[in-house]
Amino acid sequence: MDKKYHIETDAIHAGQEPDPSTGAIMTPIYQTSTYVQKSPGEHKGYEYSRTGNPTRTAFESLMAALEGGKHGLAFSSGMAATDTIMRLFKPGDHTIVGNDVYGGTYRLFDKVLKQYGLEFSFVDVTDPEAIEAAIQPNTHLIWLETPTNPMLRLADIRAISVIAASKSPRIWVAVDNTFASPYLQQPLSLGADIVVHSTTKYLGGHSDVVGGAVVLNDEEAYLKLKFLQNAVGAVPGPQDAWLTMRGIKTLHLRMERHCENAMKVAQFLSDHSAIAEVYYPGLESHPQHDLAKRQMPKGYGGMISVIMAGGRDAGYQFVSRTKLFALAESLGGVESLIEHPGVMTHASTSDSTFPVPASLVRLSVGVEHIDDLLEDLQSALVGL
Ligand SMILES: *Cc1c(COP(=O)(O)O)cnc(C)c1O
Repeated sequence: MDKKYHIETDAIHAGQEPDPSTGAIMTPIYQTSTYVQKSPGEHKGYEYSRTGNPTRTAFESLMAALEGGKHGLAFSSGMAATDTIMRLFKPGDHTIVGNDVYGGTYRLFDKVLKQYGLEFSFVDVTDPEAIEAAIQPNTHLIWLETPTNPMLRLADIRAISVIAASKSPRIWVAVDNTFASPYLQQPLSLGADIVVHSTTKYLGGHSDVVGGAVVLNDEEAYLKLKFLQNAVGAVPGPQDAWLTMRGIKTLHLRMERHCENAMKVAQFLSDHSAIAEVYYPGLESHPQHDLAKRQMPKGYGGMISVIMAGGRDAGYQFVSRTKLFALAESLGGVESLIEHPGVMTHASTSDSTFPVPASLVRLSVGVEHIDDLLEDLQSALVGL
């Protein structure tokens, strides 16, 4: 699409022209591994589906439009997207990473990529000065997640991008935008260079597909990543690309309700005696609420973490007793989920200098009726 539309319109139309051969309004699932050539090397733009597939192309264009970037690339999971970005770097290259990133990102950096000579410093990214102090002559990348999983801390994308841009040679800023989704926050417009998504979460939105995506503007880096996407091969199949596009059509509607419900749940939990602390960027009590208002003006997302007054055991009981909030890993689907990060999603951080608190419980607030959600939490908390 040449015209610039609002994100609500892009979510439904971007990258998706009616099928030229039939007029089908929905992008077909091109369930094919290869493409017939007229003569060697003479083809219609597609040779082999690791290299390219028309359903994936539509999804990649859609992702680029949603993040307001030039180029999109799709991957078989969020971790595959992250891993492929890290292959832009060489042994001895240094990356500054937030010290409470998603457990799987920490595991990939600390347990896998370190063995190949990549260097990492894990720092408190709520403090731009701490980031500046951690910059070394071999620093090439700053990896941010905001809000973070699971502590819901924020990084000031604009301030950190200004610091990174002032250095020579240049330092890239990558933002894992999974928690906010492009509906609530567009990191490229705030100065970041690369956006990463686990499309498994809010983008797919229905807990039925695993995937990842990268969006960026820089032509040279895009071509390198496109080369790596094909060379490494962690690509999604056409069914997964299609299913994610289908989910994205209602991204804006879902995010509005996720934000609305989560705000009410956060307020309810703040007032409950079984809960010692609530982490939600939309609460005035959040230490970075002012930054949240600036950086995520449309809403604060559907994720909430709480510290149980009764400690770890109370947390175990809480997550086992809810009925609507299903006890499960992952997040961002239409249905509400609850989990214990210390033993579930973030067990891999237990040996780090920043393990998640044992009394922490994380909620992914869905789009069910708010009264049913509050009632479920209320009864699960009785006596805790
Ligand atoms: C889930 C998640 C990932 C990993 O994505 P997968 O699709 O599970 O590989 C990365 N970052 C964040 C913030 C996540 O929540």
